[in-house]
Amino acid sequence: MIIGGGPAGNTAATYAARLGAEVTMVERDVIGGAAHLWDCIPSKTMISTGGAMSFSRRIGGMGLEQSDVAVDAEGLTHRIETIKSKLSQGTTQLLSSQGVRLVMGTARMVGPHQVEISDLDGVRVVEADAVLVATGSRPRIPAWCHPDHERILTTRDCYPPSIFPDSITVVGSGVTGVEFVHMFSSFGAQVTLVVSRQQVLPAKDPEVAAVLEEDFLRRGVRLLKGARATAIEREGAEVVVRCDDGRVVRSTHAVLAIGSVPNTDSLNLESAGVALDEGGYITIGRHCQSNVPHIYAAGDVSGKLPLSSVAAMQGRKVAEHVMGLQRVAHRHLDYDKAASAIFTEPEIADVGLAEAEAFAVGRKIRVTKVPFSATPKALINNDPRGFVKIISDPATGVVLGGSIVGRHAAELISVIALAVTANLKVSDIVESLLVHPALSEALAEAAE
Ligand SMILES: Cc1cc2nc3c(=O)[nH]c(=O)nc-3n(C[C@H](O)[C@H](O)[C@H](O)COP(=O)(O)OP(=O)(O)OC[C@H]3O[C@@H](n4cnc5c(N)ncnc54)[C@H](O)[C@@H]3O)c2cc1C
Repeated sequence: MIIGGGPAGNTAATYAARLGAEVTMVERDVIGGAAHLWDCIPSKTMISTGGAMSFSRRIGGMGLEQSDVAVDAEGLTHRIETIKSKLSQGTTQLLSSQGVRLVMGTARMVGPHQVEISDLDGVRVVEADAVLVATGSRPRIPAWCHPDHERILTTRDCYPPSIFPDSITVVGSGVTGVEFVHMFSSFGAQVTLVVSRQQVLPAKDPEVAAVLEEDFLRRGVRLLKGARATAIEREGAEVVVRCDDGRVVRSTHAVLAIGSVPNTDSLNLESAGVALDEGGYITIGRHCQSNVPHIYAAGDVSGKLPLSSVAAMQGRKVAEHVMGLQRVAHRHLDYDKAASAIFTEPEIADVGLAEAEAFAVGRKIRVTKVPFSATPKALINNDPRGFVKIISDPATGVVLGGSIVGRHAAELISVIALAVTANLKVSDIVESLLVHPALSEALAEAAE
């Protein structure tokens, strides 16, 4: 029994069914989950359209005449809805083709093996040998802010046709916050970012964060560093954000991007004896099992890396474990080797060991860095910003990690991710016969 049809739930369902399990998946909103409905897919679709707009403002250097490009709100809404429904239909078809029983309803536990399902047919209790909780998370809303979903927004209220703000204050400078800054400023809004520390993306390499800050400043984004928002209120046509240091920001809209909370509160997990941590996340072991061995948790609800890709891989590992495959051929999930990307301009992607982490534990590393400005394809693309950095073991040459800042960084990082997962050496990258002219040439150079 799988509760939740996001990346974690639907991947687990597909693999478990393929391995011979009888699978029921219950989803209350949309097959594909919040990832399809509100998070990854609509945000990246908006960013892709916004990117085309901001690129159109830079075509002067490409031998083209500059002309104005305007947003077609109806067309953009249609584009987002079409992509979402295509993906959801594709996932539904895949699940059905594997024989997964799909139930559109709401589930909760009523005992260790008993799941109560409420749907249009009423309420019933279903028995299951194993249960996967994959119910995801929702935006965190602090006590000092009451979103009205019209001008004071959560990340789920940011898609057209409802808003194209003239000005917006983004509260929170983590991954989601900076992506929303990029998204709104690409569409021409005046954006202010409230940054509680002295650096955007406080968890990232300062060199990486600096490139992004430079781009924000170039575009006229106001950075309010060292400020914590303490109140957000409407005053007439304005939204006023007050900070703990007395600074006040006025804009037409404000959006909260300060993390998420797990969807565990209405699952009645205590009836099954499942332990939660103080944040409400289900604590899991290396096979994604909770303290109750036949009840698993995967995805955002497990409190590990909140990424769609990680959720899907956890789902796959759960299926393998439930079906006993870990005794035959099973690779443990190593969260330290997860690649991640930030879809800003330039894009930022990294994987594996970071320089700061290595220094913190006194580990010897070799760091090589190549700027894209020396790469022919970056010049052809009229976008020479950013760099490739590879971190390797100086004694063995094994690739330990890396980061890429620049166009298509989210795609290019796959090469370093593969090297990190498969323990490849820098020489393996150097000796690959890559394409010319291509941005990947910078990877080969950084591996030299
Ligand atoms: C704005 C934003 C952008 C993001 N962009 C990216 C990105 O580009 N790349 C990336 O890797 N990650 C991204 N993420 C993170 C990613 O969306 C999550 O990590 C991912 O959705 C987690 O998948 P999941 O399966 O755990 O949960 P979800 O996708 O949240 O799915 C959980 C499902 O469970 C259902 N559910 C909940 N309770 C019940 C119940 N009681 N009964 C039945 N069904 C229930 C929900 O309706 C939901 O459909 C983004 C997050 C945000 C907020």
